[in-house]
Amino acid sequence: MRTLAIDIGGTKIAVGLVIDGQLTSREQFSTPVANNAEDFAQQILTRSQQWLELVDSIGVSTTGLVSKAGISAINPDTLAFPTPFPLADCLQQQSGKPVAMLNDAQAAAWYEYKMLDDKVDNMAFITVSTGVGGGIVINRQLHKGNVGLAGHIGHSVIDSQGPTCGCGQTGCVEAIASGTAIKKASDACFSPPISNIELFEIASHNPQAEAIIDRSANAIATLCCNLKATLDLDIIVLGGGIGLALGYLDRVNQLIRQRPQAFQISVVPAQGDYDACLLGAAYQFKD
Ligand SMILES: [Zn+2]
Repeated sequence: MRTLAIDIGGTKIAVGLVIDGQLTSREQFSTPVANNAEDFAQQILTRSQQWLELVDSIGVSTTGLVSKAGISAINPDTLAFPTPFPLADCLQQQSGKPVAMLNDAQAAAWYEYKMLDDKVDNMAFITVSTGVGGGIVINRQLHKGNVGLAGHIGHSVIDSQGPTCGCGQTGCVEAIASGTAIKKASDACFSPPISNIELFEIASHNPQAEAIIDRSANAIATLCCNLKATLDLDIIVLGGGIGLALGYLDRVNQLIRQRPQAFQISVVPAQGDYDACLLGAAYQFKD
């Protein structure tokens, strides 16, 4: 199986050729400015011309909500095009190939699920980076929901007295645990400001840094236990720049072990790197 994989971000687009589950080549370019989906699809296909004749299918992962109508957003400012944006239909019409499209965090979740050594039935993927996102697999199928919202677990409210989130709610996991939230807390604490990487480096001997990271890890631990209670998951996979930062996963697992037994769940590190979304996009056709 040869699939053209396309990962659409707010600022850049990655395209690659996936043969039998392996990413064999990739390229990246700035997200084009386009007023309509026809132009946008045309520009992507032009940039992928060298692979187009070789592939059987096209798998797309994208920022935003993916529904039958196309791509839309919870926050329209994060998308570079008008919504709903019927990109999959346009790619299919112009290329003549079957096209499948997923939200990018859902695509990464699907890739991580496929990478698990022990096949499990129910799993969640959580990425903690600039924001907090994820995807959910139930009964070995990626759960997307009718409007594509499934897996936006960063917007679970866990503290009604907590900080305001960019989504408009108060006390979302994202507003407490994300890299952005950590940086905000760090900047209020340290002068001159330090990076999140430096914050993790000094945490072992600096109680203030330790407290900031612990607050984030505690929010993620709560999210994990909530997901276990709601969905009776078998495992959770944690990724993202913060999720995979020094000692973070161990903290989350330690905090989970302090919760009641019924809500405890094993959290393991993500296998994928920056190409998890591309591979997940292609893996829609893998079986
Ligand atoms: Zn939110």
